[in-house]
Amino acid sequence: MGAHPKQKISRSRQGNRRRHHFLQTPQLMSCPTCGEKKRTHFVCPNCGMYKGRQVLDMDRQMRRERAAQQEAEQ
Ligand SMILES: [Zn+2]
Repeated sequence: MGAHPKQKISRSRQGNRRRHHFLQTPQLMSCPTCGEKKRTHFVCPNCGMYKGRQVLDMDRQMRRERAAQQEAEQ
């Protein structure tokens, strides 16, 4: 016999252990720049702004996405 639990874990202890095993919905807020819903502490995927600063070059990203679409179509 290998390692074996000495005592049965009661349903209440089992539930206590699993109390954190739930899914959380991501924290959402509306972007102060464009008003779209975005995750808190994340760069806005719509306008690429974070804390009033342009973080992502949206033109570049659009071009990249278009190129990817064209590749997918071919
Ligand atoms: Zn935005």
